[in-house]
Amino acid sequence: ADERGFLSLLTGSFATPAAENPTVAMVEAAYAHHGLDARYLNCDVAPGSLADAVRGAVAMGWVGFNCSLPHKQAVIGLLDELTDAARLIGAVNCVVRDGDRLVGENTDGKGFVESLRTVVDPAGASVLVVGAGGAGRAVAVETALAGAARVTVLNRSGERGREVAALVDGSTPAEGVSLPWEGRVAVPAGTDIVVQATSVGLFPGTEDVVDLDLDSLDASVVVADVVPNPPRTRLLREAEQRGCRTLDGLGMLVEQGAVAIRLWTGVDPDRAVMRQALTDIFG
Ligand code: NDP
Repeated sequence: ADERGFLSLLTGSFATPAAENPTVAMVEAAYAHHGLDARYLNCDVAPGSLADAVRGAVAMGWVGFNCSLPHKQAVIGLLDELTDAARLIGAVNCVVRDGDRLVGENTDGKGFVESLRTVVDPAGASVLVVGAGGAGRAVAVETALAGAARVTVLNRSGERGREVAALVDGSTPAEGVSLPWEGRVAVPAGTDIVVQATSVGLFPGTEDVVDLDLDSLDASVVVADVVPNPPRTRLLREAEQRGCRTLDGLGMLVEQGAVAIRLWTGVDPDRAVMRQALTDIFG
């Protein structure tokens, strides 16, 4: 035992629903692998109880926690500070205790960029982001901050898409453009990276695919999907058939968790161990 004796480092997640969220398995696999005396508690927290849950975590000395749907925006009012990225994205998925202050961070987009870099560097790239919800917003902002030259946002609700494009254009060095979603949309010429950041294709709708003209995909385009379950979405299979390199949503899930573990424990965790824990679950 180390100097903490029988007192483990406490972390966890506040969300509802929570039962199907596999993050606990991934994070605790990393804790075990690195011999960390730390726990991750997956908690189902109703919207009306979020403030109490946060106060409880503080009272119990938690070093941090994740927030997932529907708390990513509501938690902001309960925190002392936000990182620049969390403020820009307007959502917090990871809270870190810094002394007696709670700092809100967003690791979704950072996790995506880390994962993307294993295939291609977004610097100078022209990126099409499909989706402007929490994931789409985080991906658009962080790929822009990672040096993408242009981020084009395509979203079913045009209003939301235009908002994210304006955010990228006004608050990052990248050019932000929005594209109206009318009929089957062709991937704009010159696109280097397509990111599918909607919930289309997520279990149980596994045969669904966003209404893009996949025949407009050049083989040089990298196609990424944020959907973690199933990892090999129909979109990725179709893209592979057209010669594209692809990136699944497990990479993003692993990397956003790795950023959180580093922030909470100071340990940079082994990604392969984390990915294996998820692969064991998703098959
Ligand atoms: P939100 O509810 O915030 O946003 C949902 C998005 O999907 C919106 O852009 C919405 O468009 C769009 N959408 C939903 N249904 C359709 C449809 N039939 N056709 C076109 N667009 C549609 O959800 P999140 O952004 O939080 O999550 C989106 C996905 O990202 C989920 O699959 C989630 O699992 C995944 N995710 C993955 C992570 C990872 O680490 N791999 C991390 C976080 C999320 P509209 O605005 O018009 O409603």
